[in-house]
Amino acid sequence: MHTAIIGAGIAGLTCARALYAAGQQVTVFEKSRGPGGRISTRRRDDAAFDHGAQFFTVRDPAFAPIAEDWAAAGMIAPWTGRFGRLVGEARYVAETPPLTRWVGVPRMSAITRRLSAGLDLKTKTRIETVTPSPGGWQLKTTEGDDAGRFDRVVVATPSPQAVPLLAAAPDLAEKAAAAKMRPSWAVMARFAEPLRLPFDAVDVQEGPVAWLSRNTSKPARGDAECWVVLARARWAEAHVEDTFEDVAEALVGAMAERLPGFAPVEAIAHRWRYGLLNQAIGPDAHLDPRGLGACGDWCVGPRVESAWRSGQAMAGLLLAETARGA
Ligand SMILES: Cc1cc2nc3c(=O)[nH]c(=O)nc-3n(C[C@H](O)[C@H](O)[C@H](O)COP(=O)(O)OP(=O)(O)OC[C@H]3O[C@@H](n4cnc5c(N)ncnc54)[C@H](O)[C@@H]3O)c2cc1C
Repeated sequence: MHTAIIGAGIAGLTCARALYAAGQQVTVFEKSRGPGGRISTRRRDDAAFDHGAQFFTVRDPAFAPIAEDWAAAGMIAPWTGRFGRLVGEARYVAETPPLTRWVGVPRMSAITRRLSAGLDLKTKTRIETVTPSPGGWQLKTTEGDDAGRFDRVVVATPSPQAVPLLAAAPDLAEKAAAAKMRPSWAVMARFAEPLRLPFDAVDVQEGPVAWLSRNTSKPARGDAECWVVLARARWAEAHVEDTFEDVAEALVGAMAERLPGFAPVEAIAHRWRYGLLNQAIGPDAHLDPRGLGACGDWCVGPRVESAWRSGQAMAGLLLAETARGA
């Protein structure tokens, strides 16, 4: 039984690892240079920015033992910064009681690097079509190359990218189309000197910025003074086609108005076209009886742990089919 998984985010890799642990053959296709998806880190000289997921929580009891294992293996650690809200002009209100936030060590991307270790992972390979072939599925890349024939295929991409890949199973394609995802802009800002601010991360209550965090305050991040600024979802939607330079200027400018000294030496924007889930569709994962499945955060909720849950559920459905001899 050979399963192809399209997308090496947390959902795809969770599913891949579970199948691999059960002794099945798995190949993971990823269009980017490395695994991670929206759990990602951009490195630049001695600076590094987690410009996708900022941290993750463990609300789901099924996820708790997994996070414990990751912590024991040194993959993750708690982020014990000064958290709160920025209200009005620039009033900082500390969070009470503090939420437990987990981050990858030494960067968010360490999580998915570790999850992909030992797997057959084909990066820089964008799958364009998934078509039925006798007893299985044929995959083709965007370049028109044959990516192989597989017994089963799991589509683990953001929902808008899943729709065309699920064309052979119109029911699934329709479900994916019903999940709503919004764009997101992240700005990576590097400073010459440490900023003297009373917080490490804040939810910003008004204006174009929704979140501001000092990446350097996470464990094992080094000394470079790196901050991440995330746009408010509504603002990102309205400015999705702006230039990267304009977005960096607008978001840094909005913070500079409120925080004296917020003057980075470099600010680079990154667009997540399908960044944040607005509306999940449930249930946790979907499987067409012919062996075409779909999973991702869009099935469950807008968080890392939701994507994990979906990937785990996808593997559960496939392993149950195997046990039934399908
Ligand atoms: C800016 C930002 C901040 C966030 N902050 C948090 C946070 O603080 N806490 C939290 O819990 N969650 C946060 N999230 C959400 C969290 O990152 C996601 O819910 C989660 O990472 C989704 O994982 P996934 O595996 O479902 O999808 P993804 O991570 O998107 O993985 C899908 C993968 O599929 C690949 N792909 C797509 N199409 C193809 C194709 N045709 N062929 C091959 N590969 C393909 C993509 O390149 C990608 O790697 C944040 C997200 C963003 C964007």
